[in-house]
Amino acid sequence: MAPAGHDRWAAMHWPRLGEHRDAGQYQMPSACPKRSSKYLGPGTLCCAHVGLMHESAVSGLEYPALSQDGVSDVHPAAAVAPAGFQNGNVPMRIGIFSAKNYERTLLDELNASHHHDLVYFDTLLGPDTASLAAGFPAISVFVNDGVDGNVLRQIAAGGTKLVATRSTGFNHIDLKTAKELGVAVVRVTNYSPNSVAEFAVGLILVLNRKIHRAYNRTREGNFELDGLMGFDLVGRTVAVIGTGKIGTIFARIMAGFGCSVIGFDVHRSPEFQHIGGRYVDADGIEEADIVSLHCPLTPETYHIVSARTLGRMKKGALLINTSRGGLVDTEAAIEALKSGQLGGMAIDVYEQEAGLFFKDLSSTVIPDDVIQRLVSFPNVIVTGHQAFFTREALGTILETTLASVSDFAAGRPLANEITL
Ligand code: NAD
Repeated sequence: MAPAGHDRWAAMHWPRLGEHRDAGQYQMPSACPKRSSKYLGPGTLCCAHVGLMHESAVSGLEYPALSQDGVSDVHPAAAVAPAGFQNGNVPMRIGIFSAKNYERTLLDELNASHHHDLVYFDTLLGPDTASLAAGFPAISVFVNDGVDGNVLRQIAAGGTKLVATRSTGFNHIDLKTAKELGVAVVRVTNYSPNSVAEFAVGLILVLNRKIHRAYNRTREGNFELDGLMGFDLVGRTVAVIGTGKIGTIFARIMAGFGCSVIGFDVHRSPEFQHIGGRYVDADGIEEADIVSLHCPLTPETYHIVSARTLGRMKKGALLINTSRGGLVDTEAAIEALKSGQLGGMAIDVYEQEAGLFFKDLSSTVIPDDVIQRLVSFPNVIVTGHQAFFTREALGTILETTLASVSDFAAGRPLANEITL
């Protein structure tokens, strides 16, 4: 019998064989619906063995012997093999979407111990670009790649078996369809939550003390203080919506400033309470001078900050969103800013960010009137989804992504798999 994981491994590798398809030399997966590792008869090999032979061609791995029924007894990962297959590694071809230069350099370095075949795409994954994934058993995406049902069906038809998102959040992936199609989805569950928590605190300091305005003023020789007055943080009440990993670290830092910290969450965290956090019900938002969002975007949390929520907040309170754009009804926030109900807003995420963020649009006319309106306010700060962007966090994100693909390729359990 083939060892556990062999069929999965083989099924994942057949898409590498695009160049053999036209030759008519091998039996393709359509004729091997189970993608088993059976030898199908003279002149025809199933996808699994074609996969192994192909690997042999590209890496020098000795092709495993077939037993009488044509089933290989040798898991490719176990074979004595040259670089790429050593230490239990099974190289895999990974299509990396939305790949930025800073990621490519680091991924190439980290991949030295994984030996995967990395192919980078600048473009976002979406209906028009899904065909690029054909032939990649694994793809990696980021927060603004649209991995909806339609895209999943396209990439699954092209042979993709694993989607690895280089993020914690996974609201951009249709998990139900992925499950139906047998496409595994992994994320980066744990990477420096401090990176995001510290950034949220930075946004509060800049917004409250108007450091962004002071920076621009002094560069132009204007040393006036008019319009730059803020408030002391000590003694203020900070509401944390979502007291998970990031929310709890954020709460600890704010408690360090001498703030009272109140929390909203569907689950209570002993750690949050340990640092002095107090859970309140929805009415508690009326107490807060600052509201910071740290929950995931789900159908339940969509527009959790609505016109109604904003109306219940303390007049002049600050709103910070480093979580997901869809948590805030942006049009309602603009109205609240115009009326003065909202004292200021700092967002690192924006509901329509997919067409804007991670791009240099400085030489173009931006057609999104909402973001243009937002950046026109002196009391609004917009950053382009950079809260995670520290050396430590990026290193962990990319290493975890490569390690997840290595586990998948070798048939090992997936520690970071998202299951429904
Ligand atoms: P986490 O899973 O540790 O914490 C999320 C918390 O939200 C959990 O305690 C959960 O119970 C709570 N929650 C879920 N539904 C809720 C609801 N309806 N109301 C209130 N609370 C609810 O996640 P985390 O690592 O702390 O990350 C939080 C979010 O931060 C992520 O989902 C992601 O969207 C965002 N994020 C942003 C960046 C960035 O660069 N801007 C980077 C990483 C993560």
